[in-house]
Amino acid sequence: MTSPLTLIPRPDDARPLDPSVDHGIQAIVTGASTAETCTTDLAAGPWDFDVRPGYGPGSSMGDVIPTGAPRQGELPAPYRVATEADLHDRIRRAKEALGDRVVVLGHFYQREEVVVHADYVGDSFQLAGAAQAHPEAETIVFCGVHFMAETADLLSRPEQAVVLPNLAAGCSMADMASIDDVEDCWEQLAEVYGDLDTPDADGLLPVIPVTYMNSSAAIKGFVGRHGGIVCTSSNARTVLEWAFARGRRVLFFPDQHLGRNTAKAMGVPLDRMPMWNPRRPWGGTDEQTLADAQVVLWHGFCSVHRRFTVGQIDKARSEHPDVRVIVHPECPMEVVDAADESGSTDYIRKAIAAATTPTTFAIGTEINLVQRLAAEYPQHRIFCLDPVVCPCSTMYRIHPGYLAWVLEELVAGRTPNRITVSADVSAPARVALDRMLAARP
Ligand code: SF4
Repeated sequence: MTSPLTLIPRPDDARPLDPSVDHGIQAIVTGASTAETCTTDLAAGPWDFDVRPGYGPGSSMGDVIPTGAPRQGELPAPYRVATEADLHDRIRRAKEALGDRVVVLGHFYQREEVVVHADYVGDSFQLAGAAQAHPEAETIVFCGVHFMAETADLLSRPEQAVVLPNLAAGCSMADMASIDDVEDCWEQLAEVYGDLDTPDADGLLPVIPVTYMNSSAAIKGFVGRHGGIVCTSSNARTVLEWAFARGRRVLFFPDQHLGRNTAKAMGVPLDRMPMWNPRRPWGGTDEQTLADAQVVLWHGFCSVHRRFTVGQIDKARSEHPDVRVIVHPECPMEVVDAADESGSTDYIRKAIAAATTPTTFAIGTEINLVQRLAAEYPQHRIFCLDPVVCPCSTMYRIHPGYLAWVLEELVAGRTPNRITVSADVSAPARVALDRMLAARP
């Protein structure tokens, strides 16, 4: 298997672009670069943060991590002190030794030094599909975050092990919708809407729960048990249409921005999209507002995409009058409205790949993907809207040292950091995923 990342050769006279965010951060810290980073702690090894609670340095560092979030045990010293070149060789040798027994998956937002070893690179759902396509592999090493490894476990064969190289690689957005808070919300909504599992005379349920793929397996299971469905950033509109055909309204979690941006584009008025904040009585709203609601939005967000602003777009337009601004729908509504286009990581990649003339692109999504696209398509000028280098904190927890460690453990016959979803959760979660796969535009 080879990486699907095919770099387009650069003209001979051009200096090669370095897609490594880590190299950029190290240059900032040593003074070799005048660029800015949100924290110089990013230059340290993630093992410096594994024993502490928190998401670690990067975009989610200010978010409150739930008590009991998984922590990573100590990474053995040889992996902490090894050079980048040594780790690269160790990973390569371990992968060769394992052959087809292992598939390594790398998310678009993952570090370049890890992604170069991935058999597949994609978004969370594409990667779960890649795991499904390799039933012969004993182990799937998922270089992404916790909910992605859970989804791969849901969709792979029971005998296959899914391994997350650093257990501290959670997702702050997914953690914003805990199963306890969602169940509390559901009970309170039943006080307003009546029995939530019984359709009315028109055959419509009072509320259909819709969860973004970026949520725990427990939340996907909840949705599956209550007539609901999963969505991705690529199919959110189709999924909302599916839900409106079956219910009076939607409860959308965890990402308020994807829910708001999608529903607004479908014509749902903003005053019929109240927010449910689980930390406030009645979600911070009231019975009448809930009775009138078409979409109840959970108070969740991605701290990577919340960094993008209208001011950054204005600046890009003033400096590059022909710029094409594309942002991810996890960005706030004002940012999506000010952009030329919005779409999933897959949409962004395809839009750039389809551009036939040299174009300036300002992109509103995670920096690792943007820098990789800039290296992959040197005929275009591609830059991140956010001038401050601030990667996804939790993706960044997967340093090549952890990948080398888990692969060498597998070579030795041990399976560290296995992620498993219990049977009582996996059955309804698969129902919710199957509904999504069957939903048609
Ligand atoms: S980019 Fe945002 S949604 Fe994606 S894993 Fe990081 S925190 Fe979670």
